[in-house]
Amino acid sequence: MQVQLERVLEQVLARNPGEREFHQAVTEVFESLGPVLERNPQYVDAAVLERLCEPERQIIFRVPWVDDHGQVRINRGFRVEFNSALGPYKGGLRFHPSVYLGIVKFLGFEQVFKNSLTGMPIGGGKGGSDFDPRGRSAGEVMRFCQSFMTELYRHIGEYTDVPAGDIGVGGREIGWLFGQYKRITNRYESGVITGKGVTWGGSLVRTEATGYGTVLFAERMLATRGLSFDGMRVAVSGSGNVAIHAIEKAQALGGHVVACSDSLGYVVDEAGIDLEVLRQVREVERLPVAEYATRRGGGAHYVPSARVWQVDAQVALPCATQNELDETDAKRLVESGLLALAEGANMPLTPEAVALLQSAGVLYAPGKAANAGGVATSALEMQQNASRDAWSFEHTEERLAGIMARIHDNCAETAEEYGDPGNYVLGANITGFTKVADAMLALGVV
Ligand code: NDP
Repeated sequence: MQVQLERVLEQVLARNPGEREFHQAVTEVFESLGPVLERNPQYVDAAVLERLCEPERQIIFRVPWVDDHGQVRINRGFRVEFNSALGPYKGGLRFHPSVYLGIVKFLGFEQVFKNSLTGMPIGGGKGGSDFDPRGRSAGEVMRFCQSFMTELYRHIGEYTDVPAGDIGVGGREIGWLFGQYKRITNRYESGVITGKGVTWGGSLVRTEATGYGTVLFAERMLATRGLSFDGMRVAVSGSGNVAIHAIEKAQALGGHVVACSDSLGYVVDEAGIDLEVLRQVREVERLPVAEYATRRGGGAHYVPSARVWQVDAQVALPCATQNELDETDAKRLVESGLLALAEGANMPLTPEAVALLQSAGVLYAPGKAANAGGVATSALEMQQNASRDAWSFEHTEERLAGIMARIHDNCAETAEEYGDPGNYVLGANITGFTKVADAMLALGVV
């Protein structure tokens, strides 16, 4: 089976040249699959692996828009509809200058397994653009969103493909995207996009879900060793949607969150991050995180051009972007007493960093399991849209907590079944893969 896996991996790498992040994501999953293929040769016979690695559809389009000075600008838009064996394609849109096909494909590939793990009827997809919203006026971002949707609308739908937010796409952008969809189609099709505002079809808890879910997963993972967040020293990377809600939940569980960051540097606040100040700076005024330290004065300080992993922590929650924590960072964290790490971001650790944490016995939760609460709550938003209902915060949060507990336990049980207890990477990859593979077998060669 190992030979078989290596042959398919070689083909995938050769067929998708230069797509470094996609190669990394596929390689990581393949490293877990040997024992599953041994037990299930029917997956090999039906070329499930080859089909899983080839997106069902890849759409690339021009996004023209006019900036505030009247100058015409051109960006590139993407939507990769990866796998629909379990349900309509589902996954966010990322607006960031680093976006190219390889990033969208790595995110879409991960999304297939993550969505499978949620237990909800959703397939996997991802999209975005190399548009950089930073420094752009609200009018420019709105015109960009409208132009982006003017092409995207023909490819999406409640039963086809349901986008959401990701880096650079929050509630404001989802509003402008949905507004343009509604205008073009003349349909109030709420279920076509998730992450909507609660007064116009959104779900309570969706905004909080990814960060909250990551911490809930970490809490359950800590409990396997008789530990909890209570009194733990926590470092978080990023200061966007996922990071802010991870900080909020970690604090609610008694964690002492001392640091967070953005792409320019990090802040340390030994008194504990003051969420009210952080939200005002990042969410309301959309300023760099450095401003947090200025406003807090005294105990807080800002370190420019460096990663937050310089800070000692017992629990680390990377919530910014891919490959933001490397082997050197991991080594330093382990030496400073790291006990657990849960990924709020997608693929934030390099493969070397993952290997180091695992061999040091640190509890490690991969993003496709730990951050699945966001997309799971998107599926709850779709349920509410389909039934024209709106659930309470408490009910929705309870559903989220139940889903995270189930994902954790399923991953832990699978890891044990395959002889490597505590290996959440193995558990997540095998659990996610098996469900999609079985559905693909049932649906025939399509
Ligand atoms: P946001 O745009 O709200 O925030 C992103 C944060 O990460 C910002 O603080 C940003 O800083 C920082 N960041 C972005 N790029 C880099 C970089 N190259 N180096 C260092 N820091 C960087 O995005 P989200 O919080 O929504 O997403 C964060 C991560 O979580 C992503 O990996 C995303 O894929 C993942 N995720 C998000 C989900 C969601 O529901 N939103 C669901 C599941 C996963 P700056 O402002 O300076 O760029």
